[in-house]
Amino acid sequence: MKKRVQGLFSFLKSSPTPGQVVQSSKSLLEAAGFVALGERTTWKLKRGGAYLVERGGSLIAFRLAGKAEEGFRILGAHTDSPGLKVKPRGDLKKSGHWSLSVEVYGGVLQSSWFDRDLSLAGQVAYLDNQGKAQLALVDFKRPLAIIPNLAIHLRPKANEGWKIEPQKELSPLLGLDKKGSLKELLLKELGPDAKTLLDFDMLLYPTEPATLVGVEEEFISGARLDNLASCFLNIEALIASKSNKNQLIVLNDHEEVGSGSAVGAGGNFLESVLSRILPEPEARAQVLADSWFCSLDNAHALHPNHPEMHDPEHAPLLGGGPVIKSNAGQSYITDAQASGFFQKLCLQNKIPYQHFAVRSDLRCGSTIGPLTARQLGLKGLDLGLPSLAMHSIRETIAVADLDHMAAALKAWLAED
Ligand SMILES: [Zn+2]
Repeated sequence: MKKRVQGLFSFLKSSPTPGQVVQSSKSLLEAAGFVALGERTTWKLKRGGAYLVERGGSLIAFRLAGKAEEGFRILGAHTDSPGLKVKPRGDLKKSGHWSLSVEVYGGVLQSSWFDRDLSLAGQVAYLDNQGKAQLALVDFKRPLAIIPNLAIHLRPKANEGWKIEPQKELSPLLGLDKKGSLKELLLKELGPDAKTLLDFDMLLYPTEPATLVGVEEEFISGARLDNLASCFLNIEALIASKSNKNQLIVLNDHEEVGSGSAVGAGGNFLESVLSRILPEPEARAQVLADSWFCSLDNAHALHPNHPEMHDPEHAPLLGGGPVIKSNAGQSYITDAQASGFFQKLCLQNKIPYQHFAVRSDLRCGSTIGPLTARQLGLKGLDLGLPSLAMHSIRETIAVADLDHMAAALKAWLAED
């Protein structure tokens, strides 16, 4: 297997929720010499230095490689994926079974969650043996739950489609033991240092690992490819870059629910980091005016069973290279200037690229692009990895597109 694909698979495996995405990203960056900065400490930044900052499920990493007054090449992506989140009082006892009470996080393709082996991961607040409040990441890794379909005999018209009622139908089955509780399960998982469980943010995720599919193993099938494939490519590009330009990547949580949090793209995380890198307002304004932002997310590739769902002239194909996403309603930030800059890089480096604009009678999704660009006055574009079954529990992308996108990001961070 190719090194890049192997790297992506191990990143996906160690990153079931945004908290773990930040930790996996941090280990890759620290292994490459990036120095972790705390938001509560004073920063002493050096030209040529490489740094990272984390805030909850979000992370920013940057390299100050060029002249102070030069613009940044910025890459962005999001760390969260649609899924099912356990409610605060998680246990749900019904009809002699132990289930979990969940709410839907983001635009989940709900039918894909039935009959999957599911595990739980997230963060947990607890009191230790000294009575001190602690926060820890937990990942059970093993299959703990399942949301069984209703047999076709009991819903004879199931193949004609039905409305899924999340409150009724999406409770994962955890066991037969009526005395068990999720809090006890979490305490046990935390080990002997944990005395009292206080609260948790736990998400369900499928345990089936990502895999290569296709006659020539040309496809990747896996969970959370939106948007962890982009996070991985951003980190890889930043680590590998030999450029002497100022470079930065921002990986935000909460994109799938509108980004309106302190860690989301609607919050002040990036603005705060940039104002600490560039404390002087006049210099910061000049640098931002000279910066370029590339927001990376997945794009809808043409589905061979549903070609009619695309505008025929703006229907990207799997394997066809990075997708430039444009939208008249500004759901994407792309304009001719930024798209032109990107296309020039692709032409110079012989990288294929494609265009996406939604069918004129459909609404298109959005990304962290518009929120980030709006707050900082950045020019830039929205790029996407072509993918099928976006927001399904398993999505499909092409191996070739990882390489095309990696080449494009390398050029983005380096060239004029
Ligand atoms: Zn996304």
